[in-house]
Amino acid sequence: MLYSTLVEFYARLEATAKRLEMTDILAELFGVAEPDELEHLIYLTQGKIHPDWTGEPEIGMAEKMVVETISRASGQRKRRVEAILSESGDVGLAAEKSLLDKRQAMLGEKPLSVSDVYNAFDQIANESGKGSSSRKIDRLVRVIVNSSPLGARYIARTVVGTLRLGVGDMTILDSLSLAFTGSSENRGQLERAYNLTSDLGAVARTLAEEGLESVAKAQIVLGKPVRMMLAQRLSTPEEIIEKLGACSAEYKLDGERFQIHKDGDSIQIFSRRLENITAMYPDAVRMVSTQVKVNHAVLEGEAVAIDADSGEIKSFQTLMKRRRKHRIEEMAERFPIAVFLFECLYVDGDDLTPEPYTKRRAKLQDIVEETERFKLVRALQTSEVSQLVDFFEEAISDGTEGLVVKSTAEDSIYRAGARSWLWVKLKASYQSKMVEPVDLVAVGAFHGRGRRAGSYGALLMASYDPDEDMFRTVCKVGSGFTDEDLLSFPELLDGERAEDKPRNVDSMLEAEVWFEPNVVMEVLGDEITLSPIHTCAFGRLREESGLAVRFPRFLRLREDKAPEDTTTVEEIVDMYRAQSRTQ
Ligand code: AMP
Repeated sequence: MLYSTLVEFYARLEATAKRLEMTDILAELFGVAEPDELEHLIYLTQGKIHPDWTGEPEIGMAEKMVVETISRASGQRKRRVEAILSESGDVGLAAEKSLLDKRQAMLGEKPLSVSDVYNAFDQIANESGKGSSSRKIDRLVRVIVNSSPLGARYIARTVVGTLRLGVGDMTILDSLSLAFTGSSENRGQLERAYNLTSDLGAVARTLAEEGLESVAKAQIVLGKPVRMMLAQRLSTPEEIIEKLGACSAEYKLDGERFQIHKDGDSIQIFSRRLENITAMYPDAVRMVSTQVKVNHAVLEGEAVAIDADSGEIKSFQTLMKRRRKHRIEEMAERFPIAVFLFECLYVDGDDLTPEPYTKRRAKLQDIVEETERFKLVRALQTSEVSQLVDFFEEAISDGTEGLVVKSTAEDSIYRAGARSWLWVKLKASYQSKMVEPVDLVAVGAFHGRGRRAGSYGALLMASYDPDEDMFRTVCKVGSGFTDEDLLSFPELLDGERAEDKPRNVDSMLEAEVWFEPNVVMEVLGDEITLSPIHTCAFGRLREESGLAVRFPRFLRLREDKAPEDTTTVEEIVDMYRAQSRTQ
């Protein structure tokens, strides 16, 4: 496929905010692509060259480098390109406009194909070491001189990481189903394969080359993360026993989720966002290699920072000091961790995800030689409210966040990629009617005044609506920030700035600055209230009214969470209802 054909589809996608239209446009694109092009097409459409979990380098060029490239490719002065950029705030438009202005002089001789562009991106990503910046620029100049002005718009955005066509994984699955099976009804089967392998490109390719039957046979593959199962929430032990009956209550540790893949000597660790974080945790890799007694396994657990002497659990913030690229061994020594295991998804060729909880836990016990720093998470099997209450209090006094209570019924399978009622979390209660914090994503901001001049005074926060793939606002948070937080916000958030309200954000408030929904924060309020100005669950409980978090306070950043992991609209509705019942 020619790259110019692909960018026509991009332009059409960019012109609509309607998910159904986007699905149709993508289905048309997938329909005209060659099967062996699909994989690359899909990642390119998501602004990447491969899924995050491969651990392969991403393109990541700085804006400055792209300005230099545009200037060389278009023959325009650098200052001129910079002026267009600062006026539009969009490196894509700067590239397009510069090329339009000087088109005749520099026209390249050869039409670009999608694979030319993909390969160039791949080579750019793999340039490293001394002189790599100028080699990256050279490569990009060669691509841009051969592209149309419209093509340059999308190439420039892709290399700086701001393509953002608003195409989520679920939209791609719908479109694939539509393109290759004639309707979106078969999405369920594609989704199952995707949940087991996290590899949209491979699912698409199998579908196009071998058909739906092959996709339905998808299996767990070592080295490709399984999309993680998530928990629902309830507010009281009574509700949980009522919902689950017999269950196993496990300590809920406040750290980073690990999905560990052991494939002989090769050990990889994936985060909740399915990034490959193996390199950051060499100590965990050593523990896996000595304590897991089988050759092939997929396990899950929570890694927490601990005090080296007392073994006491330390805060989540301490653990986040381990998330770095340099001086890793030194940090591993300074901030030691323990891994508390709670899942076993695969052992030596057997997929355990369709097995019930008790069987998976027994297998986990079987294959792990426990140590103080690598062991199964504490669990209690019960069906009694009073026992659950006692265990919850014990968990809190041991410094955990509460419990994750898991069904032990025959059907208590591991539901990859689902937020399921088979797992229910119960978190510590605070001195307010709102019993637990929520995770929200920043979608906008208002400038600070006085002491906060130069930073943001308040952030507009949203919850996630997975049915529509939209972020809907629930509060403006302006308190709970330390001076240090405030100082860090411009750097943290400015990379997410958007010209206008992003298409996947639903807001009635006009923020002074808009952000692509990417940065997740934990927020605690006093209660959930009806609100005419927030769009979360708008019209659901009362006409002309949505739900809001009242008196919200910022607690901390959740860098480990993806925007789709934030508290959902549905959960906020449930919290509102639970709160109304106890009043
Ligand atoms: P939350 O982040 O509040 O949605 O809670 C779910 C997270 O709790 C999971 O993604 C895990 O990282 C973490 N967690 C801690 N302990 C457990 C456990 N025993 N079982 C499952 N998840 C746990």
